[in-house]
Amino acid sequence: MRLILIGPPAAGKGTQAAKLVEKYGITHLSSGDMLRAAIKAGTDLGVQAAAYMDKGNLVPDDLVVDMMVERVKESDCDDGFLLDGFPRSLPQAEALDSALSEAGVSLDAIVAIKVPDDMIVGRITGRRMDPETGDIYHMDFSPPPAEVASRVVQRQDDTEEACRVRLEKYHAETAPVLPYYESTGLLKEVDGNAAPNVVTEQIFDILS
Ligand code: AMP
Repeated sequence: MRLILIGPPAAGKGTQAAKLVEKYGITHLSSGDMLRAAIKAGTDLGVQAAAYMDKGNLVPDDLVVDMMVERVKESDCDDGFLLDGFPRSLPQAEALDSALSEAGVSLDAIVAIKVPDDMIVGRITGRRMDPETGDIYHMDFSPPPAEVASRVVQRQDDTEEACRVRLEKYHAETAPVLPYYESTGLLKEVDGNAAPNVVTEQIFDILS
């Protein structure tokens, strides 16, 4: 199974991705996680990407495309993968298509999680991460337990200012990817304005 998960920031892509990779036994490739790992490791890519990410801007297509196209060629993707956060622009979608057709494989579905803009800002600005486990919490909807609360951190691009830029970029750059995939007949849309397990059920139903 080769899947793409698309949605605005804080649509719940990471949460749904975890469920999908578990069910289908496929490899989870999150471009955001890969870029954050590159920043942490201090690689050239990380240094270049950080300047864009901190302000909520998209990292230039050529950098992200190279990173992802190389990654999907690795052997742990032979039985399938889930792309989370990539492609995020039309040029990225086109580059992915070329790379997959060169490799003789094709996508099975593109799942778009729809969440209204007015819900996104609250979801993002309340989001916190436990740096020790990577677990994600929300200060209002799923607060961290007392023993974790003192160490949770906010992602640098989860501030209100960066969030508004990310939302703007989503509409300008990423939303045009949806009609592109709609024309292939592979696009499936789900309502992300529901409890996480309800969204998961919708996705499983569609894919089955
Ligand atoms: P995410 O973890 O998916 O929310 O991504 C965090 C940030 O990483 C984004 O706001 C972008 O700055 C950058 N990023 C992740 N994936 C991409 C991509 N496919 N294209 C460009 N920038 C990306």
